[in-house]
Amino acid sequence: MKVLKFGGTSVANSESILKVLSVLNKNQNDNILIVVSALGGVTNLLQECLFSKGKSTKNLLKNIEERHLEIINNLSNIDGQTYLKNFLKEKLNKLEDILKAISNIDEITKKTVSNVLTLGEILSSIIIYEILKQRGLDISYINSQELIFTKEVNNNEVLDGEKSSVKIKNKLDLLDSKFMIAPGYICSNESNEISNLGRGGSDFSSAIYAKYCNAKSLEIWTDVSGVFNANPKIVERASPIEYLSYKEAMELSFYGAKVIYFPTLQPLIEENIPVFIKNTFDQDANGTCISNSTKLDKDEIVKGISHIEDICLINIEGSGMVGVPGFSKRFFESLSTKQINVVMITQASSEFSICIAVNSSDASLAKDVIDAEFKFEISQNKMNKSQIESNLSNIAVVGDKMKSRKGISGKLFNALGQNNINIKAIAQGASERNISIIIDKDNTKKALNALHETFFEENLKDVHIFITGVGNVGGFLIEQIRDQKEFIAKNLKINLKVLGISNSRKMIISDSEIDLKKWQIDLNKSKKIADYTDFQDKVLELNLRNSLFIDNTASDSIPNTYEKYLNNGVGVVTCNKIANSGTYSNYKNLKTLSRNNNCSFLYETNVGAALPVISTLNNLINSGDKIIKIEAVLSGTLNYIFNSFNEIDTFHKIVSKAVDLGYTEPDPKIDLCGVDVSRKILILARESGYELEIEDITKNHFLPDSSIEAESKEDFLLSLNKNKDHFNSILKKAQENNSRLKFVAKLDKGKASVGLEMVSPEHPFYNLVGSDNITVFFTERYKDSPLVVKGAGAGGEFTASGVFADIIKAGQGNG
Ligand code: ADP
Ligand code: ASP
Ligand code: MG
Repeated sequence: MKVLKFGGTSVANSESILKVLSVLNKNQNDNILIVVSALGGVTNLLQECLFSKGKSTKNLLKNIEERHLEIINNLSNIDGQTYLKNFLKEKLNKLEDILKAISNIDEITKKTVSNVLTLGEILSSIIIYEILKQRGLDISYINSQELIFTKEVNNNEVLDGEKSSVKIKNKLDLLDSKFMIAPGYICSNESNEISNLGRGGSDFSSAIYAKYCNAKSLEIWTDVSGVFNANPKIVERASPIEYLSYKEAMELSFYGAKVIYFPTLQPLIEENIPVFIKNTFDQDANGTCISNSTKLDKDEIVKGISHIEDICLINIEGSGMVGVPGFSKRFFESLSTKQINVVMITQASSEFSICIAVNSSDASLAKDVIDAEFKFEISQNKMNKSQIESNLSNIAVVGDKMKSRKGISGKLFNALGQNNINIKAIAQGASERNISIIIDKDNTKKALNALHETFFEENLKDVHIFITGVGNVGGFLIEQIRDQKEFIAKNLKINLKVLGISNSRKMIISDSEIDLKKWQIDLNKSKKIADYTDFQDKVLELNLRNSLFIDNTASDSIPNTYEKYLNNGVGVVTCNKIANSGTYSNYKNLKTLSRNNNCSFLYETNVGAALPVISTLNNLINSGDKIIKIEAVLSGTLNYIFNSFNEIDTFHKIVSKAVDLGYTEPDPKIDLCGVDVSRKILILARESGYELEIEDITKNHFLPDSSIEAESKEDFLLSLNKNKDHFNSILKKAQENNSRLKFVAKLDKGKASVGLEMVSPEHPFYNLVGSDNITVFFTERYKDSPLVVKGAGAGGEFTASGVFADIIKAGQGNG
């Protein structure tokens, strides 16, 4: 004998019932007991009818009728149709009468509730029985209401195993047909009144039948290919678990893996009956086997992650609890009298506080019960009234072998910490089969995906990227991500997903990946007007793990959003220098937030484009070296300009060309006034540990006053033309001294300066060509022969590659 249970989706309509038929046809060798649920969604409709509070149920009843008629019309022969339609009509008329009576007397008894809610199973089982009979199956109908019984124990309705066993065995002894069909969910109580086994209870019905008819196995046919290692509706890359022990499956189902109703496994463990979770819609898929046969077990440590949403924490505290024996007994007994299910318990070892997690629907009752039980202690100020914290979720990480492996909780905390997810409470059972945590409900999806990635996808980590600024740097960056995406996934196991792009006019942002081959077209077509606060709101609303905000702009305002990104666990990668060269306190604050929230704040390209200037400086300091002096040519732009400046071309012409090539900031005055270089040396000074402000940098200008005072970019360029003699004379002086002009930034014992200098042929800066940068670090270790970082230090493509390197670093969780 085998028991096969078909859930709501498997019997939802005529098409799915044909699939059920094909499963049954493959079972020629065994006797089969079939347990069916109501048509998918029908129990919910019945529940709506029940709690309609006087509102019309006409549409609900019509919907229920149509769902069943669709099956009758499509699958039954004409004679059967007449019989089944009459049967359906009669049951629905009776339901209507009950609903009318309920609304008249405004009172619902437990019996009436069961009468209404179990109607779905009565209808589905009778209709399917008729259809199977018509197709020639040797089949009998068995009525679960006469065979499965419950009894009251401590105010709880539990299975009466003895009575059910006798009834089921006696009934089956009388039948000799190959197939039997029974409605799930429905049962009778001690007083022989109709009752039910709880929502999702058809799984339990099938397990009860399997136990008492000594079935060799139970197959639960549903709409997924087994128990997945996380809810497949929430974790895209969740996959079916091949094998689970009974205890693992019980933990997963208790903590929310709805695919098995949690009391189901208990009756099966005692008889060692294996359970197979199979997919009606993909019958060849392996599914999951649940048994005690360790032969099937692979060496997996963590088997699955399950979760329950809508959890509340209830916390009680007070000195009256310390060392008082029997306190916990009173506490839990009071909850049990009201049948409140405690999902999780933690108690501080000082016993000064105890915290439980319950389903939200039980929270206020639990609070009342606890406060009433400890009324005296509360009145004596020995205890405070209990406190409720709502909108939480419970997440459980489950695996029999977790106890034999160290570091599982470390990995769990790390994954959540890196995503700025705060853990409100933790519990680990003594069996160490399960670690449970409570977090904010809003973070459920993010946490499940982050944990799934940590425990099951060590192979590939998604990094969600939101880019603002797609001009020179941003444009190259997107191209580079597009071209390297596959390589990075393969070699670094990082899946770079660009989900948001914004320029100064428009933006596109959602939870689906942007096609980087046609992002310009999509951005142009977008109806969303660019707005960096809307962009931020959307990033935070999506609340995805491993999220990075990329700022490729020179905007003054966008850096004001960094704080909120970091506070919400979104890393920031920026080539924009504004934030780090603003006030010291802002710079410090962003770095602290990045550290405290475990998310990256990376800005290597603030100095020297893609050259590793900041990281070299950090490495020196972190390894214990001390910076004595830094000398640098940090403006590729100014280096390009002074290297190109000669007696043939005017200074104005060279600067205009640099503007056209994209070598300058959008406003070239920022470069030529030394503002940009001052910002860079300021950042290096701060990274070296000096609390400097921009005003502390000594600026030695080479521009005439009229250029400094120019208000627009055009005026500025014109002023360069007007002052050509001034610039020619600077050039001439350098040539006469056999020197070259370099705009040099210095940091010497905490004092920083910038200015144009003449460097002679023996100086390391003399031969610096094109737009190259050079930074020379004199440190305690590199005292005599300084450490030099030199190379191309400007240009969109180089800067983009520096930003890209930071993105990868952040994706790897470094920095
Ligand atoms: P049935 O109607 O067949 O009893 P259920 O809806 O009760 O089906 O259970 C199957 C559903 O359980 C799946 O469609 C899936 O959405 C949900 N589910 C939640 N967690 C898991 C999990 N860990 N593995 C598989 N399914 C899960
Ligand atoms: N039909 C019931 C429910 O929806 C029982 C079940 O499907 O298992 O809860
Ligand atoms: Mg179910």
